[in-house]
Amino acid sequence: MTRKSHIAVVGAGAFGGWTALHLVRRGARVTLVDAWGAGNSRSSSGGESRIIRATYGPSQPYTKMAARAMQLWNEHEKRWGANLLHKVGVLWMAATEDDDFERGSLPVLREHEIIHEELSANEMASRWPQINFDGVRWGIFEPKGGFLRARYACQVVAKEFVAEGGEFTEAAVLPKGLEKGSKEGLRLSNGSELVADAYVFACGPWLGQLFPETIGALIRPTRQEIFFFGPPPGGEFSVAKLPVWGDHRDRFMYGMPASDGRGFKVADDTRGPAFDPSTGDRTVSAEGLQRAREYLGFRFPAMKNAPLIESRVCQYENTPDENFIIDQHPDNQNVWIVGGGSGHGFKHGPALGEMVADCVLQGKESDSQFRLSRFASRHASALLSDKTLWPPTQ
Ligand SMILES: Cc1cc2nc3c(=O)[nH]c(=O)nc-3n(C[C@H](O)[C@H](O)[C@H](O)COP(=O)(O)OP(=O)(O)OC[C@H]3O[C@@H](n4cnc5c(N)ncnc54)[C@H](O)[C@@H]3O)c2cc1C
Repeated sequence: MTRKSHIAVVGAGAFGGWTALHLVRRGARVTLVDAWGAGNSRSSSGGESRIIRATYGPSQPYTKMAARAMQLWNEHEKRWGANLLHKVGVLWMAATEDDDFERGSLPVLREHEIIHEELSANEMASRWPQINFDGVRWGIFEPKGGFLRARYACQVVAKEFVAEGGEFTEAAVLPKGLEKGSKEGLRLSNGSELVADAYVFACGPWLGQLFPETIGALIRPTRQEIFFFGPPPGGEFSVAKLPVWGDHRDRFMYGMPASDGRGFKVADDTRGPAFDPSTGDRTVSAEGLQRAREYLGFRFPAMKNAPLIESRVCQYENTPDENFIIDQHPDNQNVWIVGGGSGHGFKHGPALGEMVADCVLQGKESDSQFRLSRFASRHASALLSDKTLWPPTQ
């Protein structure tokens, strides 16, 4: 690819939006296409908030990526004068006998110079008296982490992409024939054709439908429920007083304090049933609500009877090993497939976009952990049938 190449990026979520922006900054002509617009409510990026943290367990590429992403989120907040990030810190609670994930995170956090504290249960209890730390053995606190205003951030990225010279089209790319290549361009739902030198498909949970042979079940969308409870007045459960928290117990529960006049978020990271991102019913279940309530009352006793004020159903787009996919289509070298955020992709958008732009324009290879070839083994088939995924995501 030359700098003057025309690149079509399909999907304006966290992955596609940032990829398009980095491509246009490197001098390419870029057309970004999305069926329903950046950060739309069907997309995986279309929620209120997404956690940004670097605690990620041992031997993985994500702590380094999160550090780079954090730097880019901060830079762009200033550059655009937009409040993208609530830097309230992230508290990770270790509440099971097995704390290999947390212990293994510490050297990696040190290696990448991520500011963090190791805290005992007593230290945490005196710092955050709103939380009942029963069963929590110790914790990691990352003061520079927090949460991103997800949908808003996608919209800002798309707007700035256009301001920097990119072209945005709201239309769906029709799936027929994509596996066979895009020599004659993409057919769009508005009847037009989009011909480019290269194509990046960053279609999150839709990638399996668009590329049934290459991706198919390698990306499994699962139904995830999120609950926002009404805090008592006075801000004790808001961003002014509490960090984001992740609770590693029998189930991985997580959430964030109330912000922007909205509720206190509680969610269960356990993978739900299969979900269709276009047509799936987004009404939360009574069982999910009951579980969230029980948990809330236990861990945040003053919130025990808090009213539910909002809820959402979203989907994770899981790969078998929960690593991302950044790779060329095996039969079409000008087609890139980018996705598999697996419940933890959002924060990485700016860093991932840089990587993809380097791959597309400079011919760099993506990290082997992100390539499709990793699935061409028996190990991968075993992973495909394994429903008990750990570590947690976000
Ligand atoms: C409930 C929930 C909580 C999460 N929590 C966190 C968290 O705390 N921290 C974190 O880092 N990550 C988190 N994640 C994961 C993260 O949100 C996703 O990994 C990330 O947003 C995926 O981005 P994406 O760009 O790959 O996909 P998407 O955001 O789904 O974007 C894909 C885009 O492609 C478009 N599209 C699809 N098909 C077509 C087509 N044919 N033509 C044109 N456009 C098309 C869609 O409209 C969509 O906008 C969470 C996810 C969920 C669901």
